[in-house]
Amino acid sequence: MAEEVERIKCLIVGSGPAGYTAAIYAARANLKPVVYTGMQMGGQLTTTTEVENFPGYPEGVTGPVLMEDLRKQAERFGTDIRFGIVTDVDFSAHPLKVTVDGAKPVEADAVIIATGASAKYLGLPSEERFRGMGVSACATCDGFFYRGKDVAVVGGGDTACEEATYLAGLCNKVYLIVRKNYLRASKAMQERVFKTPNIEILFEHNTLELLGSDETGVTGARLVYRKGEPDQAEKEIKIDGFFLAIGHHPNSEVFSKYVKTDEQGYIITEGASTRTNVPGVFAAGDIMDPVYRQGIAAAGSGCRAAIDAERYLGELEAQKH
Ligand code: NDP
Repeated sequence: MAEEVERIKCLIVGSGPAGYTAAIYAARANLKPVVYTGMQMGGQLTTTTEVENFPGYPEGVTGPVLMEDLRKQAERFGTDIRFGIVTDVDFSAHPLKVTVDGAKPVEADAVIIATGASAKYLGLPSEERFRGMGVSACATCDGFFYRGKDVAVVGGGDTACEEATYLAGLCNKVYLIVRKNYLRASKAMQERVFKTPNIEILFEHNTLELLGSDETGVTGARLVYRKGEPDQAEKEIKIDGFFLAIGHHPNSEVFSKYVKTDEQGYIITEGASTRTNVPGVFAAGDIMDPVYRQGIAAAGSGCRAAIDAERYLGELEAQKH
């Protein structure tokens, strides 16, 4: 006899501040939420060191501790937190169908998508080849391995400046590779970079290729100055680590057959609500927020998603009677 498919009242996909906050609210509203954590349990904040702007922590808190606190708070009210990745969905009819880890089918009355955003890569073949062998998109996760060495960070935004400053405290030298002739980062962040003596900014440079071998990993990078212009010139730098900090892309692919997204892939929600175009499917956090992208903003929308889901489930229940 075929095994019965599990039916979940409120399924939350993702375990960042949006997912866990939605879980806290949903659990307290007796929606019996199940969270599938995704690959990176705790989300992007687990790759951060100090977080000083999350309300409620006057002395600051580290990203992993903050996420651990949110997880415990969600569990305290009975949230069922499971490690697993949603690999497919069928939102064409109710109940909503979700496949976990390519194998486990579940059904849900409401789904809250809180899958966040992931780091972007340049798309160079050599970058792919050296992924995990000198190429990283998270200085706070991997910087430790490059103590005393020379590294490069790509990007000119707040992330790039933050990561370059962080790495400068660990490494011998940090090249900051910026494709324009200015930094897009906030003035305060720029000042920190300009004042750090072991950061060298390479304005108007693009990366052509990473150098190295399967044995050594990354040993250098081939760059071009003023790409596409008549006075363009190539140069090589010797580095052991190459850190990407060129922005993020929203993790919406698995849902985008049914759920409307903008051209960048951010899920579109109705007005100030977290409702998507699919009844019963809600979106919270960085997956629907290309503007603010902050932990506390994500937590706030997680709260709204749980309230929207609760109202939806209440109406669904009322229709049955
Ligand atoms: P941003 O989108 O702000 O910046 C991305 C940077 O990468 C830009 O300088 C961009 O160049 C560059 N870039 C993009 N694609 C390429 C490419 N193919 N090759 C080379 N360079 C490229 O992303 P961030 O992650 O820095 O920031 C995201 C948001 O998070 C921002 O709103 C930021 O303010 C915020 N943030 C705030 C922090 C804080 O306050 N502590 C810390 C980190 C982020 P170009 O300028 O030419 O487009």
